Amino acid sequence: MSQRRKFIKQSLMGSAFLIPGLEAVSRPIPSKETFSKPLILSTWNHGLSANEAAIHTLKSGGSILDAVEVGVKDTELDMDNLSVGLQGLPDREGITTLDASIMTGDGSCGSVAFVRQIKHPISLARAVMEKTPHVMLAGEGARQFAIAEGFPLEKEELSPKAAEAYNEWKKTSQYKPIINIENHDTIGMIGMDAEGNLAGSCTTSGLAYKMHGRVGDSPIIGAGLYVDNEVGAATATGLGESIIRICGAFLIVELMRQGRSPREACQEAVRRLISKNKNIKDIQAGFLAMNKEGEVGAFAVHPGFNYAQATLQKNVLIDSKSHF
Ligand code: ASP
Repeated sequence: MSQRRKFIKQSLMGSAFLIPGLEAVSRPIPSKETFSKPLILSTWNHGLSANEAAIHTLKSGGSILDAVEVGVKDTELDMDNLSVGLQGLPDREGITTLDASIMTGDGSCGSVAFVRQIKHPISLARAVMEKTPHVMLAGEGARQFAIAEGFPLEKEELSPKAAEAYNEWKKTSQYKPIINIENHDTIGMIGMDAEGNLAGSCTTSGLAYKMHGRVGDSPIIGAGLYVDNEVGAATATGLGESIIRICGAFLIVELMRQGRSPREACQEAVRRLISKNKNIKDIQAGFLAMNKEGEVGAFAVHPGFNYAQATLQKNVLIDSKSHF
C-alpha cells in the first residue's frame, strides 16, 4: 500500500441479491478511498510547503478560510517561484500582474484580477469578499481598494530570476505570449476542516508573457475555483483560457453533485476541455477536487501535473493521471 496515503478505507462490501431459483450472489461494490479531516490539497510541488502552513494554521485554531489564505501566502512569498506572486514572470510589457480568488462553502467569495504591486493578492481577494458588496475588483480599482485597506504597495521591479527569463524571452519572442505546456503553475488550494466546512484559494501571476490586461481562470469563480459545502470543492491550474471555456471548477463540483467521484469529475472536465480547445498538444491543464466524504481526485491533460495532499499526519506529493 502506498505509504503516502493515510486513509480510512471502506471495506469491500458485498451486497446480496436473492433471485428466485438462484443462489444468493454477492456483487462487490467498488471501494471508496476517503481521507481523514482536516484535509488540505494544493496544486504542484509548491503545495507541500503551502499545505504545511495551512495545517499549522488549523492546529493553531484558525478557520479553514484562514488556512487556505495563509497556505497560499506562503507560495506568494516564495522567491524561487516564477508563477505566483510578484516574483512571477511578467507580461509581454515586462510588468507582473496578479490574479487571485478565495471562496467558502456557503457561497461567499472574492477575487482580484490584473493587480500590480500587491504582495498578497489572496488577502486582497479576501478583503473584497469580506468588506465590499462585490465579488471581483480588477486593475486600478483593486489597487485603490488595496491602498484604502492599508495594503502596502511594493516597488514595481522584476525579481532577478524573472528579469533574466524576460530578457531571454525578448530575444526570440516576436512579442507573442508563450502558449505551451510548461510556462505556468498557479497554486490552487482546497481544504476541509474537522467539521466538514470547505474553503478554497487560488493565486497566480498567470501565463508568462501574456498580453497586458490578460486575466486567466484563477480569479474567476467557477473557472479556477469553486467550493460548495453541500458537495465539495475543485480548483484548476494550466492554460486559463482553456479552463474558462468549460467553467472547469464549477463543472467538477456539479458533476460531483450528480454522483461522480472527484477523480471521475476531474477526468470528465479534461475530456470536455479537450473537446472545446484546439492545439491540445500545447495546452496543459490540471484539475484537483475533493468531496464532502473526503474522497480526492485529480486529472490533467498531459503528464507532469502533481498535487500535495495533507492531513494532520502526513503531507505528500502525488502524481496525477492524465489523458495523454
Ligand atoms: N491558470 C493560470 C492562468 O492561466 C496559470 C496556471 O495555472 O498555470 O493564469
